Amino acid sequence: MKNVGVLILLCLVLGTVGTVGVYSHVYKELQYTKDMVGSAEAARDTAAKTSTSLKEQLKSTQDAKVFIEAALKHAKGQLLADKRTADATLAKVKDATAASCAGNAKALGVSRVVEIDTTGGPGFGMQHYKAYDFLQPGEVVLTFDDGPQTKYTEAILKALAAHCIKATFFPTGKQAVALPEVLRKVLQQGHTVGGHTFSHPDLARVTKKKSHDAAVNELERGLSAVRMSAGAPISPFFRFPYLRDTAKLIKHLGARNIAVFSTDIDSFDFKIRSPKHLINNVLRKLKNRGKGMLLFHDIQPTTAKALPALLKRLKAGGYRIVHMKAKDALKTLPDVDKEVAKLFRGQPTATRPLSSVVRTISGTKK
Ligand SMILES: [Zn+2]
Repeated sequence: MKNVGVLILLCLVLGTVGTVGVYSHVYKELQYTKDMVGSAEAARDTAAKTSTSLKEQLKSTQDAKVFIEAALKHAKGQLLADKRTADATLAKVKDATAASCAGNAKALGVSRVVEIDTTGGPGFGMQHYKAYDFLQPGEVVLTFDDGPQTKYTEAILKALAAHCIKATFFPTGKQAVALPEVLRKVLQQGHTVGGHTFSHPDLARVTKKKSHDAAVNELERGLSAVRMSAGAPISPFFRFPYLRDTAKLIKHLGARNIAVFSTDIDSFDFKIRSPKHLINNVLRKLKNRGKGMLLFHDIQPTTAKALPALLKRLKAGGYRIVHMKAKDALKTLPDVDKEVAKLFRGQPTATRPLSSVVRTISGTKK
């Protein structure tokens, strides 16, 4: 019996120990599950936060899009408004220029515009070509050779503009190719542009040393290069370098319907270094002749310096400015154009006016 009692006691003890063990295990499992639930809740909270942040980001991107679209619309409107303002300013400047010429008693102004029909290649300038003397007493024609040149051509244009007068320019092809922007300015300001060979040789000498055809090529290349650089029609007007012609070249110009120009009065501005001396020399010769076509060079610093004072003296002396225009535009020779086009090949060309390519959007031009 005693053994039975011991056995029962033993069973009870073992049972209790076993139960405690099971409970302990269950408790651990429960704790683990709780931890897992805790982690899952934390992960859920993080996901919720991320979602909110993404939603916020999306909204801010959408807001940015709306803002950019509004800014673009505004900029477009601003551009159109700027263009309208610029156009209006340009119109005002044009009107003001016209008005300042019309009402400016100090300005020489153009007193007469003559149109020259170049059919058959008429000659002008009494030093060499005496067939047509179209100037009246007191009338003056201004001509400028050998340009364009950056500094001096610009100064001459300014002096001419200040007196609201127009002149005739005989640029070389070489200079025109080098400085097309200056040449275009000459044309834009309403002056007449002809030709003066490509590289300024003495064509009588070229004829003698090489051939008549070589001289013709020099002459024609000059005209094609000026026409091409100008990007606009030029006049069928030609002046021989050093005023040295040949009968055969005169005949060529006649067949091409290109007028030939010598001069009435040579300023000798390539020799005279003092502006005062140049002015006195020109005025003395002009007084003797009473009128005349004057020959200057827009590459000469003396001329650029002297011109404002000379024009003032012409005005004071009662002289009147005549502007020569051609009836028809120059027709260049297609073969020579092809030859000259090689000089421009591979270079970007000016197919649009500068003002439509480059525009000031901030600051002012001086
Ligand atoms: Zn010359």
